Amino acid sequence: MNKKPPLIWLNIAIFTLTFAVALIGVPWYALTHGFSWASGIIAAVFWLWSGISITAGYHRLWSHKAWQAHPSVQWVLAIGGAMALQNSILHWCADHRVHHKHVDNNDKDPYSAKRGFWFSHMGWMLREYQPDGHDYNNARDLQKNPVVMHQHQHYGAWVLLTNIGLPVLLGWLCGDLLGTVLLAGFLRLVLVHHATFFINSLAHIWGSQPYSDAHTSKDNGWLALVTYGEGYHNFHHTFEYDYRNGIRWWHFDPTKWLIKGLEKLKLASGLRRVPSDRIEAAKLKMQLKLSQQLLSRHQTTGEFLGKLEQEYDQLLQKLQAYYGEKQRLLKLQKHQLDRKARRQLKELKQAFELQQRQWQLLRQQLHALTEEQQR
Ligand SMILES: [Zn+2]
Ligand SMILES: [Zn+2]
Repeated sequence: MNKKPPLIWLNIAIFTLTFAVALIGVPWYALTHGFSWASGIIAAVFWLWSGISITAGYHRLWSHKAWQAHPSVQWVLAIGGAMALQNSILHWCADHRVHHKHVDNNDKDPYSAKRGFWFSHMGWMLREYQPDGHDYNNARDLQKNPVVMHQHQHYGAWVLLTNIGLPVLLGWLCGDLLGTVLLAGFLRLVLVHHATFFINSLAHIWGSQPYSDAHTSKDNGWLALVTYGEGYHNFHHTFEYDYRNGIRWWHFDPTKWLIKGLEKLKLASGLRRVPSDRIEAAKLKMQLKLSQQLLSRHQTTGEFLGKLEQEYDQLLQKLQAYYGEKQRLLKLQKHQLDRKARRQLKELKQAFELQQRQWQLLRQQLHALTEEQQR
């Protein structure tokens, strides 16, 4: 039997101590002293700052290059990232790029979800699973970034300064030193830790797969609520360079809103988006696949399968026609957009939507039919 790699006692001590203090110290202080409003506000600001530094900074900016940030923004995110205590940008991004490249590969993916909930959530950080260390070869671009390299070289100092120095200073200033250390230091850190860890564990276990089933990642709107918008993980693994994770305007994705807001302030640029037709086509392909699988499990006539594939082809054609024309018109100047062009686009859109409704109807019929057969 293979021997387990040695334990990393520093990580175990940090996770255990912070969790125990948050679990016992925080309620004890609430009952015996009561927290001040100021400590609560400081904790909330730190929670948002450190968490979003991971999602907008470590993840979407540095790991995936989904957008570009002004150096001032990079500094704020690099310091907030140190406060989240998840290793330096360089280290985190190198791991994360491997996670995407070898997702679900138990030998290569550093937090492969196929090794179970606990391993992907925290277990991977508790033992020396990567004894050879890191060469950061997959992050050469980041090694040229002065903000990233400064944070990497002075990581320990930034961690102590943000996690202990800042709460102590602000707590002393507002007259609730211990309360602020407990809330903005310990409880905030534990909450940010597990929110981020959920993206590696739960977001690969719980939810739907509208875009692809080539990996275990899932879309989950509930999870987005506690992960600063990163619950739409199936979309993210399918289209990793998109600066959005929740693509609809109503999808809860504060990280996306922050990046968009920074763009308006001229502090962000180069926001990358996957073209809508590619997203729609991926979704459609997945629906076809699921319907085909459903059909293959039931004794239905091949006629239904033929109809399904025919409708799929037609829908794909209408999708491409509509989005192709939309793309063409977007490139035109305003004065070139005559009434005829607009009318044509409207017609193409209507034809696409009609075909879409037909497709949904057919899929509903298929579900009803297979359910009937089961009874
Ligand atoms: Zn990612
Ligand atoms: Zn993932």
